[in-house]
Amino acid sequence: MVGLHDEVHAEHYVSRKKAEDIIFKAERPSLRMWFDIEHIRDSLRYKCVVDNLEALPVITQEIENSGFEIINANIARLLSQNVRAWPMATFDLRAPNGLLMEYHVIPLELDGARTTVHEDYRKVREQQTEEQKEMSHDFGCARCSPPDAEQFYEDLRQQFQGVAELIFNSHLGVNVFSCPDCKQNWISVWTEVIGWEDEGDSAYTSIVPISAAEAQSLIVQAEDVCMDEIEKIGRHRRWLQRDHCNGVKQVRWREDVFQIGPHD
Ligand SMILES: [Zn+2]
Repeated sequence: MVGLHDEVHAEHYVSRKKAEDIIFKAERPSLRMWFDIEHIRDSLRYKCVVDNLEALPVITQEIENSGFEIINANIARLLSQNVRAWPMATFDLRAPNGLLMEYHVIPLELDGARTTVHEDYRKVREQQTEEQKEMSHDFGCARCSPPDAEQFYEDLRQQFQGVAELIFNSHLGVNVFSCPDCKQNWISVWTEVIGWEDEGDSAYTSIVPISAAEAQSLIVQAEDVCMDEIEKIGRHRRWLQRDHCNGVKQVRWREDVFQIGPHD
């Protein structure tokens, strides 16, 4: 693929996912308890930055000629107007040795903006604002809200009942769980941004309680579930943050405005 540089004026990047990022991803909230490190498909990933999208058919042809099989292609995402999902073409590839990997094609200007937007978001995420005045604490039981955030997270993943899996993508996951003791519903949104330089990936987990009616309204939206609606529902509720950015893990309860991260 490096040979494409002259033909289509493209820059290629290769990145190996760090071991700690692979482990963190395998621990994301999911109804698929069998999902572990061997199912991570972006442990090896490529990015092709182009100055002209007319290169796309050439790139696709080169992939096919290379002996790598395209098992999934999402070109429509280039037209995405979702502020959290960066516009780019994505391919899932199977190498001749069976390894699954990801290949992203992104226009030059968008690639630069992607980095800036993500850096800005990271600052917002890290800055805990003052506790909200209208904060509602009327959710769940003692099991649902132990002081230890990591303890709650592990309980949610391993012991809570899985109600619905709305989205299960490589860089975005949305699931609804319910407390086995009080039946309180919780929605988890997990997002991931690939670190193409040496800094490692950034993964953001946001978990917030929702009512049975709210769960029903979100579940019927399935994979088109509106992230703004989830943010609006969670706005005045205590929520759990569990992130892994630049090799630093952060797990805590927050009582400021609930927020969902961006994703590749
Ligand atoms: Zn509970």
